[in-house]
Amino acid sequence: MNSVVALNRDWPVVDRVRSLIDGESPPLRAGGIDLPIVNPTTEEGLAVLREADATEVDAAVASARRAFDTGPWPRMDINERKDILYAIRDRLRAHADELAWLECVGVGLPLAHVRGQMQRMARSYEFFAEVASTLHGEAYTQAKGWLTVVTREPKGVAALIAPWNAPLSLASMRIATCIPWGNTCVLKPSEYTPLSVRRMVEILHEAGLPPGVVNLVNGRGAVTGSALVSHPGIDMIGFTGGTATGRDIMTAAGRRLVPVALELGGKSANIICASADIERALDGALVGIFANNGQQCLAGSRILVQRSIAPMFIERFVERARNIRVGDPLSPRTEVGPLAYRAHMERVLSYVDIARAEGAQLLTGGRRAALERGWFVEPTAVLAASNDARVCQEEIFGPFATLLEFDTLDEAIAIANRSRFGLAGYVWSEDFATAMRCSREIRAGTIWINTPMMRELRAPFGGYKESGVGRDGPASSVDFYTELKSTIFPLDPPPMHRYGA
Ligand code: NDP
Repeated sequence: MNSVVALNRDWPVVDRVRSLIDGESPPLRAGGIDLPIVNPTTEEGLAVLREADATEVDAAVASARRAFDTGPWPRMDINERKDILYAIRDRLRAHADELAWLECVGVGLPLAHVRGQMQRMARSYEFFAEVASTLHGEAYTQAKGWLTVVTREPKGVAALIAPWNAPLSLASMRIATCIPWGNTCVLKPSEYTPLSVRRMVEILHEAGLPPGVVNLVNGRGAVTGSALVSHPGIDMIGFTGGTATGRDIMTAAGRRLVPVALELGGKSANIICASADIERALDGALVGIFANNGQQCLAGSRILVQRSIAPMFIERFVERARNIRVGDPLSPRTEVGPLAYRAHMERVLSYVDIARAEGAQLLTGGRRAALERGWFVEPTAVLAASNDARVCQEEIFGPFATLLEFDTLDEAIAIANRSRFGLAGYVWSEDFATAMRCSREIRAGTIWINTPMMRELRAPFGGYKESGVGRDGPASSVDFYTELKSTIFPLDPPPMHRYGA
């Protein structure tokens, strides 16, 4: 049995994670609920979370409302707002090690992997600040004697909800696409992983963000989350999480006609053609499913291998999967850490029996990893009998690869598309026509050709079908988070009918 390296407390962890409203922690009310925050590597309690009830959510929305209706943020000169967003970037960079450590300890993501995410997170504030500073309107003069000016205004107060699999990156993407235009927000991260996000929101304030622009409430989805998304003071909802929750949120939003942007689940095909550069395809298939401990919306979790190369490719995939270093996420050698919480680990493991019952062959893994504690799952791979199997159709969200064989490209594309999801697709082939055909015919929001995930902030990101509604990206975020206003001026006094004259 391997042992888990003891964690050093390099940075202080607060005892009780609280909301942050108007830049401060609200008073602790008697009778409030504290929920445990547990380190997935050691299974020890790290801190507790004070759950925000409906009254606290109300205070957070009121703060965001005040900051929007009368505060400086939406009224600020764009250069001043941009300076604050740049200061946020700099301060996040300066605290990258601390944030990475909190993410690693709180979520179990390997430190080496998280460090890269910290740089991307800081960059996203800079990127959307740039977009905001070049935002422009339109003018129409075609109608003789008239000038019509179209301007963009911030939309108001957003409810932003983020999941636990990459808390800092995903919460930051929600904030960075929302506030640069002058909006304010209330953010609710997942109750399982609140530590790093709480520190990040503090850092936003240390960098000069005016109080009330970003408020934080913590708690369970059914308590804090649902109070937030159904609050009458909210003007829009940006949500990243599972498809079932996204459906509930859209239903709640529909009752109040509040617009929603949803980034949801996936079950993306990773097509390995016989014409691929096999070494790179093998690396890409492993990264595609095992990065981020397999807890990725855009994982290439259905690996479709052309039958002529399947025996060789699958054998090598399995051999590499067996060699993956599972362990303490703080160790620089670790490639896969623990899953984020116990119930999730149990859910991932339950798919081993589901796979067997549907005729799949277990190729490797399938058990809790032999470490003395922690919610570790062995890197797992199964060969499915058919794309109809649950392991091909359901998002497992762990280090669990499902492989399938195909004969022709027609068949691979049909399998890729036979899914209720449509977040992403990966194709490995050195043949240009094959790659282009997959790009055209796979019904998904992003197609990566001969590469694992590369996030291009300039391009829209989001899903077809049940993988989402709307996109993150400069143009789409402007559309979602701003209102368009047309103002019409006559260049000369226009003739008017004089009623009653
Ligand atoms: P969930 O849908 O369970 O939760 C997401 C967030 O919503 C959490 O903060 C949760 O709170 C909250 N929530 C739950 N119920 C409600 C409710 N009724 N009203 C308001 N908020 C609610 O997803 P997970 O956290 O399990 O995240 C994993 C999912 O996220 C996967 O399906 C993954 O594919 C998807 N995802 C999508 C991405 C994309 O860009 N498309 C990126 C990353 C993940 P709590 O956890 O506290 O209950």
